[in-house]
Formats: sequence, C-alpha cells, structure tokens
Amino acid sequence: WHLVRALPFTIDDKIIKWFGTNTDIDEQKQLQRQKDDFLGIASHELKTPVTSIKAYAQVLGAMLTREGEHKKAEMVLRMDAQVNRLTNLIGDLLDVTKINSGRLQFNKSWFDFNETVLETVQDLQHTTQKHQLIQNFSQTGSIYSDKDRISQVITNLITNAIKYSPHTDKIIVSTRRENNEAIVCVQDFGIGIPEDKKDLVFEQFYRVSGNKQHTFPGLGLGLYISSEIIKREGGRMWVNSVEGKGSTFCFALPVDETNS
Ligand code: ADP
Repeated sequence: WHLVRALPFTIDDKIIKWFGTNTDIDEQKQLQRQKDDFLGIASHELKTPVTSIKAYAQVLGAMLTREGEHKKAEMVLRMDAQVNRLTNLIGDLLDVTKINSGRLQFNKSWFDFNETVLETVQDLQHTTQKHQLIQNFSQTGSIYSDKDRISQVITNLITNAIKYSPHTDKIIVSTRRENNEAIVCVQDFGIGIPEDKKDLVFEQFYRVSGNKQHTFPGLGLGLYISSEIIKREGGRMWVNSVEGKGSTFCFALPVDETNS
C-alpha cells in the first residue's frame, strides 16, 4: 500500500482515493488493535496489585474490629469500598478488550430468569439506603444463557439508575414475558437522557456531556459492555427516556418454549 501511495499518480482520481481509503482503514485498524492491546495489558497488570490490596484491607479490617478499633476499621472499610470501585473499572476495561477482540466467552446454562433478577436486586438493595428497589415481577420462564453475565448487565442498569437519580429514591425493576422473550426493565425518575443522545449511550466511552453530568463518575463503558453481552446472547437492549423525568432501560432475551 505504501508503494502505491508514494507513486506520482496521473491516473483517474477516483482510483487514488480508493487506494488512499484502504490504506487509512488499514492504519486505523492497526491503531485500534494497538489501543486494545495496550488496554488489555494495562488492565491485566493493574488487576494483580488491586486484588492483593483488597485481601490485605480485608484482613486488616477484621483485625481492627477484633481489637475494638472501630474508627480505624471503618476507614479500612472505606478503603475496601474504593478498591471495589477500582476492581469494577478494571473489570470493565478487560471486558471491553475481550469484546473488541472477539474473546468474550460465555458459560451457558439453563436458569430461571426471574430468580436471577431477584437475586441481583436483593444484592444491590444492600448497597443503597437511599434508593428503594421496587419489584414488579411476572412469570418469564427459563433462559439458556450466561447467568453471571446477565446478572452483570442487570447490576449495571440498576447501579446506573441509582447513580443518575440523586434526588429521587424510587427505582422500579419489572419483568414480563412477551411472546418468546423474557424482558426486564429498570425504571428511574432521575436526570433522564436528551432525545438526540439516547442511541449514543450504548457506544463505548460515550457519556452524555453537560453541566449536570460532570458530577457523575464513570468511564462510559457499562452500557456498551451490557448491550454487547445481550446482543451476543441473541437479545436486544433499548432505552426510553425523558430528560429531567427519568429513564427506563430494558433488555429482552429469547425464552425456549420447551424449557419454560
Ligand atoms: P458511565 O455511567 O460509566 O458513564 P455507561 O456506559 O453506563 O457509563 O453510561 C453511558 C452514559 O449514559 C452515562 O455517562 C450517562 O450519561 C448515560 N446514562 C446511563 N444510564 C443512565 C440513566 N439511568 N439515567 C440517565 N443517564 C444515563
């Protein structure tokens, strides 16, 4: 390609452009690969020390509690919570590199969809005192999928609902069966998403910008990872939202009639 590019062209302009475009795409692909490789290596290297810090923090916290040093134990607990955040960020970076290089693997089995949603909701209710996660479930049936990955997606939607509704406390998690699909929706009454940004939120590293949004931490990867997981599991994900009123994120997965 470089040879072609270096030639003093006198031929048809269209052909020159055509060659040029291919070279650019080649270079872009290579750059993207290098970026993905770097992200993969960096996040992998970060994972080991962070795991070790977490283990020490937990041992230290338990020791301090045993010794009656409650104030110090409380500080270590906060350290542990921050380490968890770091672990989740690194996990997201690793997932993105896996998705982009086609190495995201699924460990599939049959499981009851509602049960998994319920478990995830209960786990997350423990992490928030302010928000109330209201369950509105109806029968969905069993699905054949990766339970941990599906739970990861539900977790992401609920933690977003919590994060982006700082002034309201109600979050509704509902499930339903429609034709051959199990559907779950997470509705919040928070800041909402502007109409023209709704489709963009599923893109990697995309975050809605604006004065209000600057105060929310994040990398803009959760929804990209979630929608890719759902897509690869044969489902679909969408959002309904009104700016200033709230958002409803949903996804649907196929249900096998013979197993439900
Ligand atoms: P992050 O939350 O780390 O920025 P996500 O990929 O989960 O990354 O979300 C991308 C963007 O979509 C967010 O930055 C935010 O602007 C918007 N968003 C996601 N969920 C909600 C929600 N429940 N309410 C309002 N905006 C949301």
